[in-house]
Amino acid sequence: MARVKNWQLGREMSYWYPEARPKKQFAAIFDTNKCIACQTCTLACKTTWTSGRGQEYMLWNNVETKPWGSYPLAWDVRELDLLGPQHWTGDTYTGKTIFEAAPEGKKNIGWTPNDMDYAYPNRGEDEVNVTINVKRYHLKLPHDMWFFYLPRVCNHCTYPACLQACTRQSIYKRPEDGIVLVDQERCRGYRICFEACPYKKIFYNHTTRVSEKCVFCFPAVEQGYQPRCMRNCIGKIRSFGFVSTPANAREDNPIDFLVHVRKVAKPLYPQFGLEPNVYYIPPIHVSSNDFLTMLFGAGARHAIDTYRAAMEGDDPELLGALLLAVSTDRIIHRYQVTGDTVIGWAEDGEEVVRIPLKVPTIERAPFDPDLNVYRHNIT
Ligand code: SF4
Ligand code: SF4
Repeated sequence: MARVKNWQLGREMSYWYPEARPKKQFAAIFDTNKCIACQTCTLACKTTWTSGRGQEYMLWNNVETKPWGSYPLAWDVRELDLLGPQHWTGDTYTGKTIFEAAPEGKKNIGWTPNDMDYAYPNRGEDEVNVTINVKRYHLKLPHDMWFFYLPRVCNHCTYPACLQACTRQSIYKRPEDGIVLVDQERCRGYRICFEACPYKKIFYNHTTRVSEKCVFCFPAVEQGYQPRCMRNCIGKIRSFGFVSTPANAREDNPIDFLVHVRKVAKPLYPQFGLEPNVYYIPPIHVSSNDFLTMLFGAGARHAIDTYRAAMEGDDPELLGALLLAVSTDRIIHRYQVTGDTVIGWAEDGEEVVRIPLKVPTIERAPFDPDLNVYRHNIT
């Protein structure tokens, strides 16, 4: 085992291979406050990549309702049970990762789902976390009945458990952009990766007898365009770009700004130790700090407070970075807020988006004498 730096844990940890960061690391940010669970992302991915034989059960992108939803069944609860107690001391994780908790002779803890675990991808959808007593009150104040939608894709982790586990070295992380891929020619379908990935985002194809996973739409990414699930997001919750390590973070990179500067975007289950590269803006209405810390690590509540300030108009730079989500199909490498406008540029310096921080409201007279019609205002 090597010792590697995991900045999400605030410390070094054990991993099978030495630290080897790609030149660029592509990353995504999902704002859970805006997701409406329309599943457009799920279908955009399904129709693009997994409509073939042996792929029927696969959802490389899925959206589950937390706290009760899960795909495959109870994926996170089972992993957390195996991991045991998890502790944060300030911003440092002092518990064990899935690599450090491995029993003698194994590289990590893990479990293998069976076919039925994938049979109910919408289990728990729209279920709240407490029973609503309809006989007495629908709501109580302050109301603490909550749920939220959690979209999930492969995290293209910095320390992928799937890659570490593979005994044929069939899984690799591209040095140019950090995308994690399975070499379909080398893979023999041993399914050790299937057991190892704590997020359960690698899948076994029973027809081709090899493993498959999200490819971050790399043919589009190579042309400077965002993946399909990002471009099709109805709720405009998804930002896509590249993330730096904290020491190299750039204020004019919208992903760095959200992750490192304002720290509103947090990794999912950072305590697993994989340094995942998909980040989440935590849901502002969830009342349980313990639950938020379990999902998004130590800074979840701080992220919510900072996010609220932007919504109240106190932080135009943050508002501008958030408004870039799904504003263009192109990958934004640089951004700037000028006055009441946010502008985004592609890697080659071309301006690809320019949007106002506030959409102007136009109120029309109820009666239009030129056309002799009455109109509704629908702003
Ligand atoms: S989320 Fe799972 S499948 Fe994706 S890179 Fe990480 S360990 Fe591998
Ligand atoms: S398309 Fe966007 S809003 Fe709709 S479910 Fe997916 S992430 Fe949520």
